[in-house]
Amino acid sequence: MTAQDFSNTLEFARQLDAGDPLADYRSQFHFPQFEGRDTHYFCGNSLGLQPIATASYVKQELEDWARLGVEGHFHSKHPWFSYHKMFEGPLARLVGAHPDEVVAMNQLTVNLHLLMVTFFRPDRERFKIICEADAFPSDQYALETQLRHHKLDPDEALIEISPRAGEYSLRTEDIINAIEQHGPQLALVMLPGLQYYTGQAFDLPAITAAGHRAGAVVGFDLAHAAGNLELHLHDWDVDFAVWCSYKYLNSGPGGVSGAYVHRRHAANTALPRFAGWWGNEESERFQMKKGFRPAKTAAAWQLSNAPVLALAAHKASLDIFDAVGMPALAAKRDRLTAYLEFVLEDARRRSAAEEPLIITPRSPRERGAQLSMLMPRHGRRVFEELTAAGIVVDWREPDVIRAAPVPLYNSFEDVFHFGRVLGEVLRKHS
Ligand SMILES: *Cc1c(COP(=O)(O)O)cnc(C)c1O
Repeated sequence: MTAQDFSNTLEFARQLDAGDPLADYRSQFHFPQFEGRDTHYFCGNSLGLQPIATASYVKQELEDWARLGVEGHFHSKHPWFSYHKMFEGPLARLVGAHPDEVVAMNQLTVNLHLLMVTFFRPDRERFKIICEADAFPSDQYALETQLRHHKLDPDEALIEISPRAGEYSLRTEDIINAIEQHGPQLALVMLPGLQYYTGQAFDLPAITAAGHRAGAVVGFDLAHAAGNLELHLHDWDVDFAVWCSYKYLNSGPGGVSGAYVHRRHAANTALPRFAGWWGNEESERFQMKKGFRPAKTAAAWQLSNAPVLALAAHKASLDIFDAVGMPALAAKRDRLTAYLEFVLEDARRRSAAEEPLIITPRSPRERGAQLSMLMPRHGRRVFEELTAAGIVVDWREPDVIRAAPVPLYNSFEDVFHFGRVLGEVLRKHS
């Protein structure tokens, strides 16, 4: 279905919902309330909604803890000693990896640091990192302080790529040119899977291949990609990646992060790393022996015992992803996002407004479930009025409203109402 087939009416939106094979999943989530009804929630890229099943998953662990105390490590329904292992299958399917290549642990920025300890090993010849100029602040701080930790000057060692003048997205060819240009000095390519501000999805296989041709390690921050894009990290030969679970993965504020390490590295026990007992060979974990013997999997990067309550919430959500599967999610995502694009542009046209300008790429291959609306003139006020009307979007300084139609729980009707309210707001301001 293309934009020519769309129509900006409630009836049409309801017709699309009626034909949506994933429509019933909406009822598996709690929606924040607004004036006695569900909000039209478009912030799943910032904080995903709570699955209704989450409470029972967490309650199970609370009850086992109450009932069993320390015995719960081995005798609870899902023994805590090996709790993290329940995540290997679901996370592997989610990001396109083998179960021994993924682990749920810590939080995103922590994992980025831990994996950079292993994968950013600058020497005299190779010491540069390629990243994007407008990276998420936490990633910028991580890269900057990793460089300083190695006594390197970020002004010299950090190569930041920007979109061309007048453009909003990075061109893959520009990324690859930068990789080739700095090739012999390049230690690490560190880019996002999907840009948090513009909603651009990157060509991860092409970037990985270029990084490897240059002799560099390639890592990705998949904060906005996990649970949003179809990923094949192993087949793409990505070296390492990290993501968080509270955005598209609906696992709760500050939820447990995920990490991926390619098999050829995961099995390499000689790699330098910061270690803790939960990364040790499991058979010896409680023997309290001297000398760290890493597991031969991504789990070797674990430091501490697993945060079971947070992981229980994560499990509730991953079970839904496993039931749906990424291909079905991606199919609905593209249709829902295209419909949002259509109703937003229709609202702008009908109100004869200059804004918003959608800066997210037009092609479904270059985006996920997010549209970023550039509104330098009235953005802040439009955002406030949308919020006051029960449309939950977010405002990102300096001048963008982000909206994410999430295929698991947003409906075409949600999208229609967003367009309707935006049209009303725009007419007031033009
Ligand atoms: C959301 C997000 C983070 C958040 O980091 P935490 O360590 O989970 O607080 C980091 N980087 C990017 C790109 C993000 O989108």
